[in-house]
Amino acid sequence: MSAHDRLTFVIAAYEEENALPVLHPRIARVMDALAADGISSRVLYIDDGSGDATWSVLQGIAAGDARVGLLRLSRNFGKEVALTAGLDLVTEGAAMILDADGQDPPELVPQFVAHWRAGYDDVHGTRLSRDGEGWLKRGTAHAFYRVMQRLAKTPIPADTGDYRLLSERALSALRQVRERHRFMKGLFGWIGFNRIAVPYARERRIAGRTKFGFWRLWNFALDGITSFSTAPLRLATYVGVFTACGAFAFALYVVGKAMLYGDRVAGWPTMMAVILFLGGVQLVALGVIGEYLGRLYEESKQRPLYLVSAWHPAADAEQR
Ligand code: UDP
Ligand code: MG
Repeated sequence: MSAHDRLTFVIAAYEEENALPVLHPRIARVMDALAADGISSRVLYIDDGSGDATWSVLQGIAAGDARVGLLRLSRNFGKEVALTAGLDLVTEGAAMILDADGQDPPELVPQFVAHWRAGYDDVHGTRLSRDGEGWLKRGTAHAFYRVMQRLAKTPIPADTGDYRLLSERALSALRQVRERHRFMKGLFGWIGFNRIAVPYARERRIAGRTKFGFWRLWNFALDGITSFSTAPLRLATYVGVFTACGAFAFALYVVGKAMLYGDRVAGWPTMMAVILFLGGVQLVALGVIGEYLGRLYEESKQRPLYLVSAWHPAADAEQR
C-alpha cells in the first residue's frame, strides 16, 4: 500500500463520555465508505486525562472495532498537546484531526481525502457558520483571527481550527517542531506545503459542554500571539519613545513657563498625573516582557511535552 492509501483519524477527547458513543458510529460509517474507495483507515483516540468515564467508554469502542487505537495521557495536558501526542504516532499515511464532540462533521472527510489525493498536504476546514456558539465567542474568535493575521508573519487562515487533514510529509515536518507553547493553528501554517480550504458549517456539540471558557480562550490567544509575533515587544518600544517625546515637550513647556512667569511651586496634580501615567506605562511594558520571558523559561526547562499512561494500538494494525 502506498502512503496515499492510509488515513488515521486523530481525536483528542477530554471528558467526552456522552459524545463519543454518538460520534464513533458516524466515523465508522465514513471509514467503511473510504474502504470501498481503497483507503484503509484507523482511528486513534487520545484520552487527555479525563476525570469521567471517557477512558472506559473508549475501551468499549475499541473492543467493538478493531480499527480503533487508544492513547491515554498521564493527566490533562490540554488539547494542543493531546493532539501532538496523537500526531506523533501517525507515522504512515495521513492524519485527519477531528473534535471529539462532533462539531467537525466526519461526513465531510471524503472531501478532505479527495484534495489529499489530488496532492494537497494540508486540507483545512474553514467555518462558514458556527452553530450553537454564543455571540461573544463568535465575536471574539472573529476578532482574534483578524488580529493574528495582522501580527503574525506566518499565514494563519481565518476561521480555521484544527479540523484538517495532514499528509505524511506535513506530519513529519510537524514532528520536528517541539515547542512547549503549542499554538497548533500557527504551527500548521508555519510548516507550509500545499494548502487548501474546505468550507463547512460548524455543528453543535453532540453532548457535554465546551472546555474552552472565556479565560482559557484568552490565555490561548496570548499563547498564539506570543508564539508567532514579537509585535507586542515592539509596541512597548514605540509607547516608550512616544511617552519620552511627550515628556520632553512637556518639560520644555514647564521650564518655559517657569522662566516667563516664575514658579510658585504649584503643579502637584500635574506631577501626580505624570508619575502615575509613567508608572503605568512601565508596568505594562514590564508585563509584556514578562509574558515572553515566562515562555522562554518554560521552553528552557526542556520537559517532555506529555507523558503516556496507556497505549493500545488498533487490534488490526499488524495486518495493514
Ligand atoms: N479537549 C482536549 N483537552 C482539553 C480540552 C479539550 O483534548 O483539555 C478536546 C475536547 O474533548 C474536544 C476538543 O478538544 O474534542 C475541542 O474542545 P471543546 O469542544 O471544549 O472546544 P470548543 O469546540 O468549544 O472550542
Ligand atoms: Mg467543541
